[in-house]
Amino acid sequence: MIETEAAAVCRRFFLFMEAETMEVCTLASGSSGNSLLVRSGETNILIDAGISARRITTGLKSLGVNPEKLSAILVTHAHSDHISGLATLTKKLSMPIYASADTAHQICCKIPWIDYLIEEVRPGEGFELDEMWCQSFATPHDAPGSMGYSVTANGCKVALATDLGHLTQSVMEGIAGSDLLVAEANHDEEWVKTGPYPPFLKQRILGDYGHLSNETGALLVQRGVELGARTVLLAHLSSENNTPARARNTVARHLHYVGIDPERDLELTVAPRSEPGKLYRLERGMDPQGFSLKEAAGC
Ligand SMILES: [Zn+2]
Ligand SMILES: [Zn+2]
Repeated sequence: MIETEAAAVCRRFFLFMEAETMEVCTLASGSSGNSLLVRSGETNILIDAGISARRITTGLKSLGVNPEKLSAILVTHAHSDHISGLATLTKKLSMPIYASADTAHQICCKIPWIDYLIEEVRPGEGFELDEMWCQSFATPHDAPGSMGYSVTANGCKVALATDLGHLTQSVMEGIAGSDLLVAEANHDEEWVKTGPYPPFLKQRILGDYGHLSNETGALLVQRGVELGARTVLLAHLSSENNTPARARNTVARHLHYVGIDPERDLELTVAPRSEPGKLYRLERGMDPQGFSLKEAAGC
């Protein structure tokens, strides 16, 4: 029997979904909301829940993940673009929320009933979630107790490093050895300086505890690639002071300058702001493979 093209796409998609690997997908990324799905075997976790619970559940279902099968949420910090969906999501689906003591305190001030779900993690501390090893690292940002995370499972590692005012030793150690790196490229420095934001906001964004520019994000990406990353998603882009093309071009130009070919040596993409990005599958010793949701939509 001859297989139709659509059937072939579906067969590849289901094989892709069933493989014993690690899968990673941004549900949203940007100044107006962030959430990242990391999946390995039966374990599904979110890093941050900064979009509505409805968008999170819709996004998960589009990826073939039952929202009721979420194992935990890891929170980086308590700014609303990282926690705005937390209350509704955990009211419906009770699950542990991992955060630093300072972040937990701020979350509980906003959502008092949520404290029984909180599992406190010290910056730099690691913990096990089924077959995943989750490692936190301190991040320099204007939110007390701000952290990034890496997650390791099946010999693969993903790291999320966004909301960084500058690059620190703990961030560099946190991303070391990642196969896939989600790296902040928030703004174009000149666009912020010459843009319409009030002076205090410009100062905040450009300050040591604000956000990474495309130029400094490029240094983070360079280090990530030197330490093993073969897939890099540029993330947390500003809608006012950046564009996906601007971010990617700036980072690609820098990589070229330091002898890394962004077309040959890695996959360099920009995480979409308000919809799920590409689903990446990581396998130890293999290049990561992405699968377009558009291709899978008819399955
Ligand atoms: Zn923030
Ligand atoms: Zn943020």
